[in-house]
Amino acid sequence: SLPIAPIALLLFGLVGILLLTIPSQDVQDAPGFLYGIVLDAGSSHTSLYIYKWPADKQNGTGVVTQHSECSVDGGGISSYAGQVGAAGRSLRACLNRAVEEIPKEKHPNTPVYLGATAGMRLLNKSSPQQSDQVLAEVGSEIQSFPFSYRGAVILSGREEGAYGWVTVNYLQENFIKFGFVGRWFSSGRATVGALDFGGASTQITFVTQQKVEDEANRKELRLYGHVYSLYTHSFLCYGQDQLLKKLLAQIVKSQGYAPEVNHPCYPANFTRTLKMENIFDSPCTVQYKPDTYNPQRSLTLRGSGHYQNCFHNVSELFLYDGCPFSRCSFDKVFQPKVTGNFMAFSAFYFIHSSLQKVTGVKVSTPLQLENATKTVCSMNYKNPDRLKDFCASSVFIKALLLRGYGFDDASFPGISFQNTAGDASVGWAMGYMLVLSNLLPAESAGVRKSLTV
Ligand code: AMP
Repeated sequence: SLPIAPIALLLFGLVGILLLTIPSQDVQDAPGFLYGIVLDAGSSHTSLYIYKWPADKQNGTGVVTQHSECSVDGGGISSYAGQVGAAGRSLRACLNRAVEEIPKEKHPNTPVYLGATAGMRLLNKSSPQQSDQVLAEVGSEIQSFPFSYRGAVILSGREEGAYGWVTVNYLQENFIKFGFVGRWFSSGRATVGALDFGGASTQITFVTQQKVEDEANRKELRLYGHVYSLYTHSFLCYGQDQLLKKLLAQIVKSQGYAPEVNHPCYPANFTRTLKMENIFDSPCTVQYKPDTYNPQRSLTLRGSGHYQNCFHNVSELFLYDGCPFSRCSFDKVFQPKVTGNFMAFSAFYFIHSSLQKVTGVKVSTPLQLENATKTVCSMNYKNPDRLKDFCASSVFIKALLLRGYGFDDASFPGISFQNTAGDASVGWAMGYMLVLSNLLPAESAGVRKSLTV
């Protein structure tokens, strides 16, 4: 019989030597970088991201990096509704910068995507014509640049959640790892859930073994030969800015729409005046709207910095009754028990880091979150106008994470609050480009490589 073991050893050695010689060849033949652009058109503002990756290594993980970010001046694209040409013009400066930053010969092969999120979902609800107009305008502005235009669309909440999850796990190299034998293989690591708190919506996405009882919350992703069963939900109107509006509306209604209102989440001794229309102009506040009212009528809000009352009013914004499934987060939305570690980004990160900075205390347990929130709610600020919403926002994340999503003493410490990872911004944008540009193969990279050898 053949001496199998020595032959196998010899073959293994030869393959090893072959693979070791590949990296030096890669460097010699490196054809430079390829680029991709994503415009993240959020409710409060737009960011343009440029990504890049080596032209000869497209299928790995950690290969795509963020080259730069350009923050668009002014508000989100939905804030230009009804102002002809304004939304498109607002993007010009950042698109010009992309022209300068990406080598000229690469322009025609550089894909550019614009994805709009909850701000445009809301505009699309209240005025579909204005929403179409804004999308058409930003689309034609982008097309006037020398890149490869791939569309300007409104992402669904489910897409926004899933792409955010892809970004987080791509940046952490949780899908596959580059092994010592020179091949990509399954990392064997657990994935991390994604928590996104935007201006107009909030998303929760994680892998679950439990049955997802509502089809609308199920998303399967096949990446590198592995099927990931995701639970995802986007709560429209539960982003930071719309929640603040809902809270105002709830407080104003609970005090009989009187012209003088006590706001328990505003700092004590802080007073502001606004018009009824500033509260009731959004689809998110219709349930609190009076049947008839004068939009121009003034309201005076006086802060009292009262944590308990603030928490009570905020809790009223979340509905816990009438769950039609075996379990719910809130507002009759199915959610399995949260499992594993999470990354919390966008406004979750801003609020969490401000809480730690202002109180000087680490916030890694539910009790620490509660104590820090109580502290900021009873504080007097030198500049109350800038920090008027800090107490309410802190109470939001406490209510949302602990009562809403059900994080507890065991699972809350597993949340990492961060808005960058490996020099890239954490959000849906990178995952969107990875998936739409086919940079994440459905089949295992290792299998592909061995098939072509
Ligand atoms: P979006 O525009 O939908 O992505 O929402 C982003 C949310 O984060 C909004 O509520 C913004 O007000 C908030 N935000 C953005 N940047 C900052 C920052 N530097 N500090 C605090 N909050 C921020």
